[in-house]
Amino acid sequence: MKNKLFILFMVLVLSLGVTACNNSKKVSNVEGKHNIVATTTMIADLVSIIGGDNVSVQRLMGPGIDPHLYKASAGDVSLMHNADIVIYNGLHLEGKMGEIFENLNSEDKLVIEIASGIKEEDLIISENETHDPHIWFNVLIWKDAAKVVRDGLINFDKENEVTYNENYEAYIKELDELHEYVQSRIDELPESKRILITAHDAFEYFGKTYGLQVKGLQGISTASEAGTGDVSALADFIVEHKISAIFIESSVPKKNVEALQEAVSARGFEVEIGGELYSDSLGSTGTDAETYIGTVKSNVNTIVDALK
Ligand SMILES: [Zn+2]
Repeated sequence: MKNKLFILFMVLVLSLGVTACNNSKKVSNVEGKHNIVATTTMIADLVSIIGGDNVSVQRLMGPGIDPHLYKASAGDVSLMHNADIVIYNGLHLEGKMGEIFENLNSEDKLVIEIASGIKEEDLIISENETHDPHIWFNVLIWKDAAKVVRDGLINFDKENEVTYNENYEAYIKELDELHEYVQSRIDELPESKRILITAHDAFEYFGKTYGLQVKGLQGISTASEAGTGDVSALADFIVEHKISAIFIESSVPKKNVEALQEAVSARGFEVEIGGELYSDSLGSTGTDAETYIGTVKSNVNTIVDALK
């Protein structure tokens, strides 16, 4: 019943939007730029870089917002409806927005799912048989994401193909450098210290790509609660492997990680909180971590400096 009401609500919201923007067809906003809505900070950053001066990007979620739990407001829905292009991650990262994307897809609008351009063999299947959505922490996968955005923009705006290609090529070079930087920092850690313990399972791609064993206190979605069993088993693991640091995440409350730290302490071993990692959003605007590249660097520096 709740579901039906929601659909009815959405139909109303969307049909209002349709009437409002029938005259504006697939053109641009006032500054002559393509109006693009991206769900997460990572995607908004990517689209701004590839789109350059030709796009105006609005993001639904700011820094520190958890996409697994994010519910789109009526304002968000109308923003998406009025956009030229909507771009989202997919693989259920935006766990509460599936129906909205389906509705947008049925309209005459360019809706791009980043995950649609990622090779199946690069995706990680998690314990519950679903795809792990945290694809941005494999920098090589993010290069494919850049390609998805480039192709989408060219498809929409063929006239500026050269610009989108140039922006893409330049960014790919930066991503290649980033990939090497991350690997070189991880390589500073002796094998026995390459264990990353965080608030939730956002770093499986990172671990698989750069050679770290990863354990999250919560599953791949923050929608699942960490049980006392998880805390206890992980505390035993930390003591057994003499792990020096565990990490909190900017988009997940830190109480679970603190409970883990206490459980370790109760076993007569001390583990420090090694710092805050950006998992499902980039860092705050105005900091070094406000871009994707800045965020990935900040994370690897925090991890390596604390575990060394
Ligand atoms: Zn996550």
